[in-house]
Amino acid sequence: MKSLHCPWREKYIKRTQNKNIKNDCIFCEKIKENKDEKNYIIFRAKHSVVILNLFPYNAGHLLIMPNKHKKDLASISKNTRSEIMELTSKATTVLEKTLKCDGINIGINLGEVAGAGIPGHVHIHILPRWNGDTNFMPTLSNTKQISCDMNRIYKELRKEFCK
Ligand SMILES: [Zn+2]
Repeated sequence: MKSLHCPWREKYIKRTQNKNIKNDCIFCEKIKENKDEKNYIIFRAKHSVVILNLFPYNAGHLLIMPNKHKKDLASISKNTRSEIMELTSKATTVLEKTLKCDGINIGINLGEVAGAGIPGHVHIHILPRWNGDTNFMPTLSNTKQISCDMNRIYKELRKEFCK
């Protein structure tokens, strides 16, 4: 098995190591702050939010999560789970329309061993895919380039999400 080197994720991983308590949760911070544009919060529903991943695996990589700091799906309310699934569905429609992706990966990593970057706050990854993007890593290795694209993508996705 080949391993992927993702240097731009280092900061993110270091930041979250040993910081599983609520007060140090980067997601809780973003949700609490009233700075949606700065934090790339695309949409706020009643119990959950849609955020553009600051350290994406691919352009338009979205995260959907409950507002409350809960570690897994069983810990959140039924209403929240339903809402998150509705947002997931909406996200796929928005990504297909806005970014013209050819496919989408949807997944949840529960627990550190499963690859969760922030294991204390459950979140769904929505990852748009394009034909031939299997080599997308090198093309996104320039962090600055991502942030420029992210601002544009953020605005487009937010506009479509809020329709
Ligand atoms: Zn949290």
